[in-house]
Amino acid sequence: MSKRIVIGNWKMNPRTIQEAERLFSGVAKGISRIKKTEVAICPPFLYIEGLKKLSRKISLGAQDAFFGEVGAFTGEVSGEMLYNLGVRHVILGHSERRALGEGNGDINKKIKSALSAGLRPILCVGESERDTGHGYFNLVKSQLEECLMGVSKDSIVKVIIAYEPVWAISSTPGRKDATPEDSLEMAIFIHKILSDKFGSDSSKARIIYGGSVSGKDAGEFLRHGGVEGLLVGRASLDTKKFMEIIKIAENSE
Ligand code: PEP
Repeated sequence: MSKRIVIGNWKMNPRTIQEAERLFSGVAKGISRIKKTEVAICPPFLYIEGLKKLSRKISLGAQDAFFGEVGAFTGEVSGEMLYNLGVRHVILGHSERRALGEGNGDINKKIKSALSAGLRPILCVGESERDTGHGYFNLVKSQLEECLMGVSKDSIVKVIIAYEPVWAISSTPGRKDATPEDSLEMAIFIHKILSDKFGSDSSKARIIYGGSVSGKDAGEFLRHGGVEGLLVGRASLDTKKFMEIIKIAENSE
C-alpha cells in the first residue's frame, strides 16, 4: 500500500508572499517527524518559486496547468514549466474551475499533458447535489470516463482521484457535512469504474476525500471512508489545523 497523502489547496490565498512563507515554514517545521504520510501543498502559481527553497519534504503542487506545451496561450502556465520549477502534483478539474466553465474535455487534455510533463494529476470529481434517484453516481462516472479518456493503463496509477462532493466544500453556500459512509460508497464505486476501464492495476490509483475536512473528522474519513488521503482547503490555511490533520493521518490505523 502506498503512503497516505494529505494535500493542502490554498486556492487564491494568502494575500502576500510573506504570509505564504510563514504558513509553509510552519508546516515544514511541524512535519519534521512525519514519516508515513506524504504532505503536499498547492499554493498560487506565483508563490511556488519562493516556497520551494523552504522545504524539501513538502511536495509542491499547482492548482491548474494548461494543456499546450509552449506558445501563444496568453495567461496560461504549462505542466512542463511547473515540473521544471519543482512542482510534482497538479489539481485538475476542481469544482471552482468547473464553475468557471471548465468541462471534462478540457480537463482530459490537461490530465494527459500533465502526465507527459511528469506531474501527478489530482483529478477532482464530485456531484453538486445528491438526488434521491442516485443519479449522482452517473455524474461521477461520466466525469471519470471523460476526464480519463485516452489515459494509458501505465499512467492511471499516477493519477490521484479526489472525491469532493461540492455540497460539502466549505465555500458552498448552505453546505452540509458529508459522512465517511458517503465517501466509502463513492470510493468503492470509483474503484469499480477504474477497474472496468483500466484493469486490476488501477487499484493502485489513490482515492482521497475532500470537503471541509477538519481535525474532528479526518480520522473517521481515513479509517472508514475508503480513502488513502485528504484534500484540505480552508483548514490548510491555518498551520495548527493543518498539522492536526497531518498528525491524525500519520497516527490513525
Ligand atoms: C476544496 O475546495 O478542495 C476543499 C477541500 O475545500 P474545503 O476543505 O475548504 O472544503
